[in-house]
Amino acid sequence: MGTVVTSRGAFREEREIMSFFEAFDPIFRTYVLGNAPLKQIATRFDWTEGPVWFGDAGCLLFSDIPNNRIMRWTPGADVSVYREPSNYANGHTRDREGRLVSCEHGGRRVTRTEHDGSITVVAESYRGKRLNSPNDVVVKSDGTIWFTDPHYGIRTNYEGFKSDQELPCNVYRADPATGSLDSVITDCNGPNGLAFSPDERRLYVADTGRMFGDDPTHIRVFDVKGNGEVSGGDVFHAVYPGAADGFRPDRDGNLWTSAADGVHCIGPDGDLLGKIFVPELVSNVCFGGRAKHRLFITASTSVYCIALNREGVQRP
Ligand code: MG
Repeated sequence: MGTVVTSRGAFREEREIMSFFEAFDPIFRTYVLGNAPLKQIATRFDWTEGPVWFGDAGCLLFSDIPNNRIMRWTPGADVSVYREPSNYANGHTRDREGRLVSCEHGGRRVTRTEHDGSITVVAESYRGKRLNSPNDVVVKSDGTIWFTDPHYGIRTNYEGFKSDQELPCNVYRADPATGSLDSVITDCNGPNGLAFSPDERRLYVADTGRMFGDDPTHIRVFDVKGNGEVSGGDVFHAVYPGAADGFRPDRDGNLWTSAADGVHCIGPDGDLLGKIFVPELVSNVCFGGRAKHRLFITASTSVYCIALNREGVQRP
């Protein structure tokens, strides 16, 4: 096993690690590439999260939550600071116009970064009470912004500001067109990562419990009607070891989710198809690259990348 180490700046240290997969279903062997390395593309952070690919700018943004900053990785260039302070931003996505949408623990809000760089508040309170600490976010094709609001970011001072919880840990839908904010899922202990299936008929929500480990942790699946109404909520898959902090679907509806030992690929029926082992605790993933065929993985102190024979559905 050969290892190549290059260091080109304060944040960039690229290391190639021999890929190591485990297939639980033969189809998983067609999803991975035998000669594609798992590359550590950035390191020396404290807890990376919220990866989001900007194909038009050719860069990846991700949060370094405890250090209160958002970083930018561009292939072949040094990693740089995109925003600091970031209000302890966690999850990110892009809306239908390509604008960055961010969950802020410190601001206890969801924001949108306009094309001119100004920041618009999407949601910060519900029925007169402050949100807890929005964690992860996804935008539906109709422009509505769906996000989870667990209390993790206000429980200690590590990833935000220790504060009192005013609201239950709900999943919300914000409609920027009307300014409305609706609580759509109210029976999670700690809603965390979330994603729609490619046809948007399903919404997957991770419930990682009140304390990460004192409650059952699993991904739940909800049915979504055309009007945005949500029903169901059965357990879809229980990730083990670890928890589904964050995940993204590929084009065929497989979920690529964080776990304690790497990234797990879950089929549309909820079965574990295979694993990519990662040598740090994985928090979240996103697809990106020229053909949305690269999986970016935020994991504890580092960000990793691996090319797959899969394509993500993130837009644009
Ligand atoms: Mg999360």
